[in-house]
Amino acid sequence: MNRVARAHIIVVGSVNADLVVVAERLPGPGETVTGGEFSRHGGGKGANQAVAAARLGARVTLVGAVGSDPFGDEALELLEREGIDTGAVARVEAATGVALIAVDAAGENQIAVASGANAELDADAVERAVRTAGPGTLLLSLEVPEAAVLAGACAAQGPVVLNPAPVRALPDELAARGPILTPNAGEARALSGEADPEAAARALAARTGAPVLVTLGAEGVLVLDGDTAERLPAPSVTAVDTTGAGDAFNGALAVALAEGRELRDAAAFAVAAAALSTRAAGAREGMPRRDEVDA
Ligand code: ADP
Repeated sequence: MNRVARAHIIVVGSVNADLVVVAERLPGPGETVTGGEFSRHGGGKGANQAVAAARLGARVTLVGAVGSDPFGDEALELLEREGIDTGAVARVEAATGVALIAVDAAGENQIAVASGANAELDADAVERAVRTAGPGTLLLSLEVPEAAVLAGACAAQGPVVLNPAPVRALPDELAARGPILTPNAGEARALSGEADPEAAARALAARTGAPVLVTLGAEGVLVLDGDTAERLPAPSVTAVDTTGAGDAFNGALAVALAEGRELRDAAAFAVAAAALSTRAAGAREGMPRRDEVDA
């Protein structure tokens, strides 16, 4: 038989319930704006990246934490519907993470996050789960405690991709694990102090000794691999909502790397997937399927 094993992605990251009100305008301090329309969505960087990878055909193990509450039940159900293995998502005492999102008529938003259960993600549990998950590409982001991220990186049995979002200082111990970093332009600047994406990528690569991919929104991505920096343009799309574009990029990059593709090739695949994800409103709604990206 000539079957290629399915790529395995292990995601360590956040799981949230996104509670969205779309209103005419955003409320000011102390103000109430009425007449809005409510919707509820699965969210959290880790969960969104897991969905992106699963839609592209990978086997996905998610390591995270939700509360023992109805939002936790719902979050797990949405993930399982995508075929994601949630056996390593802990049920903890704290409430499931929530993002309260207000959006105005122009699409401008205002977000308040209560990280809840995500802040309780236990480093030892992460280490055990990542070891048990076995070989695969590990995908990390920063909406969970630093100790949990580091524990995951230390237990990895394959390439490690670290999406440094929301941005916070990169500890030396984590950089020393040699993760492939995937900041957006603002995060790259914040982490390195360099405004130019290529200079920022070089400064970060000097710390990790690994490739750095700086995502540039509609302009695609800058890939620094060894000494060589190259810009890969994003395919032109009519973007409706770029929320979750970075998550789509990271999920797709992890899948392509797990399939053994070269970095440049993997980055081109990720740029295509991320561009397609912007065609629909919402972070998860637009996450493309495999055949759409291949096309
Ligand atoms: P983040 O969403 O994390 O801020 P970016 O804005 O850099 O990150 O977007 C991540 C990736 O999503 C880009 O590298 C690109 O591939 C894709 N993307 C984002 N916005 C657009 C757009 N307007 N048109 C096409 N692709 C886009």
